[in-house]
Amino acid sequence: MKYDVLLFDADDTLLDFKKSERITFDIVLNKHGLIGEPVQLDQLIESYKSINSLLWSQEAQGLVTKDFLKIERFKQFLETNNLFADPALLSEDYLETLPSQVFLTEGAFELVSGLHGKIPIVIITNGVGNVQYKRFSQSGLNPFIEMMIISEECGFSKPDKRIFDYTFNRLREKLKKNPSESKFLMIGDKLETDILGAQNCEIDSCWYNPDKIINSTTIAPTFEIQSLSELLNYL
Ligand SMILES: [Mg+2]
Repeated sequence: MKYDVLLFDADDTLLDFKKSERITFDIVLNKHGLIGEPVQLDQLIESYKSINSLLWSQEAQGLVTKDFLKIERFKQFLETNNLFADPALLSEDYLETLPSQVFLTEGAFELVSGLHGKIPIVIITNGVGNVQYKRFSQSGLNPFIEMMIISEECGFSKPDKRIFDYTFNRLREKLKKNPSESKFLMIGDKLETDILGAQNCEIDSCWYNPDKIINSTTIAPTFEIQSLSELLNYL
């Protein structure tokens, strides 16, 4: 193996977050009587997603806190779409429903279970602690994972170098090997968080880009894959 440890992003890399989000959204909006026809669902999801991703990027820059974001995204969503409900209640239902709707991305199980015992697998995720733990315990991937690092618990989010330093320190205890002697690979779907984060701490990175998005940024992954199984060619 070319690498000593693999660092995986969770959402839309190993877990199909887009699918979880869509199904959760459908359940919660229906529960609150906010949805009429199926056509409407896609529009509402798009509106929520743009609000949500803007708030997450503000969070990554340290402009808003996660606690603020959790309710604010629903407040803005309701206002934008002229809907009436309690954003705090909507947020609560969303966070309660989301962990029960878990789907893997294509090839995730085969990849992670196949690598188990050959190389340690660590998850580094920007997300809400209890939600991510519940989701992983439902995913079937837990037995193959060495460690899970969640930004909420560590206090820093990708691409901040400090979440990687925190991970390396935790690994030092676990692997009984000096992280500076180890070769790491970060695998993730987001250039601005996963790949830039790897760049910030000078480790190799693999951009998982199943939708073949054109990279219009200056962020340069070490290599790029379109399917998870392709990763095996680089290890
Ligand atoms: Mg991701």
